Amino acid sequence: MTDIEGARERRVRTGGVDLCVAELGDPAAPTVVLVHGYPDSKEVWSAVAARLADRFHVVLYDVRGHGRSTAPKPLRGGFTLAKLTDDFLAVIDEVSPDRPVHLVGHDWGSVQSWEFVTVGRTEGRIASFTSMSGPSLDHFGHWINTRVRRPTPRRVGQLLGQGAKSWYVYLLHTPALPELAWRGPLGKAWPGILRRAEKLPAGDYPTASLPSDAAHGAWLYRDNVRARLRHPREDAYAHAPVQLITPLGDAFLSERLYDDLERWVPRLTRRTLPDKHWIPRTRPDQVASWIEEFVRSVEAGQDPRPTRTDRHAQRFGGQLVLVTGAGSGIGRATAFAFAEAGARVVAVDRDAEAAARTAELSRLAGAADAWAETADVSDEQAMEKLAEKVHREYGVLDVLVNNAGIGLSGSFFTTTTQDWRRVLDVNLWGVIHGCRLFGARMAERDQGGHIVNVASAAAYQPSRALPAYSTSKAAVLMLSECLRAELASRRIGVTAICPGLINTNITSTARFTGVDEAEERRRRERSARLYGMRNYPPEKVASAILEAVAHNRAVVPVTPEARGARWLSRLAPAALRRIARVEPKL
Ligand code: NAP
Repeated sequence: MTDIEGARERRVRTGGVDLCVAELGDPAAPTVVLVHGYPDSKEVWSAVAARLADRFHVVLYDVRGHGRSTAPKPLRGGFTLAKLTDDFLAVIDEVSPDRPVHLVGHDWGSVQSWEFVTVGRTEGRIASFTSMSGPSLDHFGHWINTRVRRPTPRRVGQLLGQGAKSWYVYLLHTPALPELAWRGPLGKAWPGILRRAEKLPAGDYPTASLPSDAAHGAWLYRDNVRARLRHPREDAYAHAPVQLITPLGDAFLSERLYDDLERWVPRLTRRTLPDKHWIPRTRPDQVASWIEEFVRSVEAGQDPRPTRTDRHAQRFGGQLVLVTGAGSGIGRATAFAFAEAGARVVAVDRDAEAAARTAELSRLAGAADAWAETADVSDEQAMEKLAEKVHREYGVLDVLVNNAGIGLSGSFFTTTTQDWRRVLDVNLWGVIHGCRLFGARMAERDQGGHIVNVASAAAYQPSRALPAYSTSKAAVLMLSECLRAELASRRIGVTAICPGLINTNITSTARFTGVDEAEERRRRERSARLYGMRNYPPEKVASAILEAVAHNRAVVPVTPEARGARWLSRLAPAALRRIARVEPKL
């Protein structure tokens, strides 16, 4: 029996211990071996394993002294990296004797996997390695040495930063104390600590073996850390392609630790996630999909991507992104920017042909996949149908960009109720429908995500010429702020983008009230000329959107005039009110 649902279990005898090995999926498929960390057992992988099992032969084992594997006797000296490598080889001899395996490690599972993938005796047995939150002790040792020998203010800062994050490593080196704590109060409190500090979902994890896993596992540190950091190996080069997934909010490891990794890994793919340490539990969809993509690309003999310089690709590669109003202007540029980062893009517009063109060009720009959908964002039923289809066929969104919007210019008394309805229906209700229908599934999935609402500088800059448009955008800004507060506990970020004057098609479709058709046409042409002269490209707004998601920003004014107005609205609102009285010459 094992705690992983549907798994077949076997025992592997090696070096005086008995390892508990669980298998899922078709043994004829490529083998993925998942190695757990500290304090953990193989069950940390249950959600990821379940997602990989219909495509791969998934193998998990309890590291010696953990879960249902037996502990070495004596414990001291029983957890050296050499012995852990013996265990790994014994497991793969049993489960995949003739074909190299794809190795995946988290925390100490990753630390030991770095050893497996950099020693000679495993050469040819590992096809790829995906590392999460666990550096090579050799690389770490060299990282420290470089900074101690050639200190600069930045390097000293990095050393102190990581030193502070490693407080628990010093404690684990004290005799007996960790064992007493884990078998006593800490063992009892740990599940609650994980839920509060790491936002782990409630459930059957960690398992009942936690106190003894944690007590035995203290020897992982004592047997290896000090010795290896003092005398790191000079030849710790990876002999298989490596995918590094770095959670950016890891409380125990600084992302700077991996700065020099290209020196040790000739074929390195980098990924980043805005999350904490236990991503196999908090982000199983993303983790499983990056493992799958990496394993498939290695099996197909393709070059790794993304590399060190592709910052957005590291963050957004493979993510599902939906953009409304994607047939033109800011929406189209945003779809392209996510496509270039390797995301899967759903381009939505009321104009079917324009949406199809955006999807087609997104594929050419590098999207992992791209689809076109037609919907009017102001139509609740159409949006419900769209959400149903997207969730059924493509999955739950990682990023939603509510961008579709229309312009409306004219004084309050020339704006009819019909004008008001139209602009609020598209600019405000369109955003509400998007947030409700797609945001609800994001929240329900509970694996993070991001919502971007395209508002406007008009949201905080009053104007006698744009009462309806500005009201609709001010509502979008406040909605975004409220939703951001509500969704923070679900790790879903919400951003309001306030572009400024951007050279797009909006001027030629905007409505001008209180004037005849000929005058409306003249005003459109004049404002199109004005926006053309300002000539701020939508691509810059698109890149501000990707940055805002990457850094989870709340409100982002884009152009200098939008930033200036934002600044005035806070520091000198009276000045902004005076400017609002000026009648624009159109
Ligand atoms: P754009 O070039 O006109 O693009 C907007 C796209 O949205 C068009 O393809 C449009 O289709 C589509 N759309 C309009 N109403 C829709 C609806 N009900 N359902 C689905 N799609 C719809 O304008 P943009 O400048 O990129 O504007 C994008 C967003 O930025 C808007 O929310 C706008 O208010 C905001 N914004 C723009 C500026 C600026 O200076 N351009 C400044 C601040 C804020 P059609 O072509 O068929 O209308």
